Amino acid sequence: MDATTRQFDYLTTFLFGTIVVGAMIGLPIFTYYYDFSWVDWTMFVILYIFTGLGITVGYHRLFAHRSFKCAKWVEMVLLIAGGMALQNSALKWASDHIRHHARCDEDEDPYNAKLGFWWSHCGWLFWKDTDPSLYDKYKTKLKQNPLVMWQHQNYIAVVIAGLAFPFIIGSLYNGWIGGVSCFLLAGVARTFFVLNSTFFINSICHLWGNQPHGTSDSSRDSWFVSLLTFGEGYHNYHHMYQTDYRNGAQWYNFDPSKWLIWTLSKFGFAYDLRRQSVP
Ligand SMILES: [Zn+2]
Ligand SMILES: [Zn+2]
Repeated sequence: MDATTRQFDYLTTFLFGTIVVGAMIGLPIFTYYYDFSWVDWTMFVILYIFTGLGITVGYHRLFAHRSFKCAKWVEMVLLIAGGMALQNSALKWASDHIRHHARCDEDEDPYNAKLGFWWSHCGWLFWKDTDPSLYDKYKTKLKQNPLVMWQHQNYIAVVIAGLAFPFIIGSLYNGWIGGVSCFLLAGVARTFFVLNSTFFINSICHLWGNQPHGTSDSSRDSWFVSLLTFGEGYHNYHHMYQTDYRNGAQWYNFDPSKWLIWTLSKFGFAYDLRRQSVP
């Protein structure tokens, strides 16, 4: 890490710390005194899927890699879903990710796996680059999309909506205690689990697994990570064919993100799906 171009990011560290403490300490304490209701669990599953796909289909395959095109309302839904995952705005996330592919395993790779598991998993979050020449060029095309800019400017409101929504649903079911329990499970814990599932792609999928598609960088395929990340575990394939809308290219690969994009295309809401012809 080059200390001259990176500065400790207090805000991100505080936010991340709050989510971790809430999920690992607040949740068990709450569980000891109260039970979660079926409403809490249902909201947890719905928001895990909604925000997770917002990251994989929206932030990753649409905005970072432009592996397909889609209707504006689909873009909007994906931007709201991805924003609720508390992984920064699509502008920041996707530009970091484009840089990860362009500079993989080098100093300028934001989640450089050569610096070890914890750096690539979440350590990189606690530092921000201070030299705009490192990242500005990766934002140019993203900035041309007015919806991406809208989401960037309203990112905090989207995050608050993602946390307030489970509280409101829970309190409608069982008053303020229902609101708190739904907020803890479907807001805080859900954010914690979606964050870590995304982090696994940067850590596990650059350290352990097979490299059937190429060895030009550290990316690996892990079917197991795909189970948690809506198909993003086929990361070696993805690094070798990064504009393919599929990460698991074989029909039997578990890749719900590609199934969603494909389904949207059958209804005419997504089009120009990009594929590599792979043996
Ligand atoms: Zn990618
Ligand atoms: Zn990668």
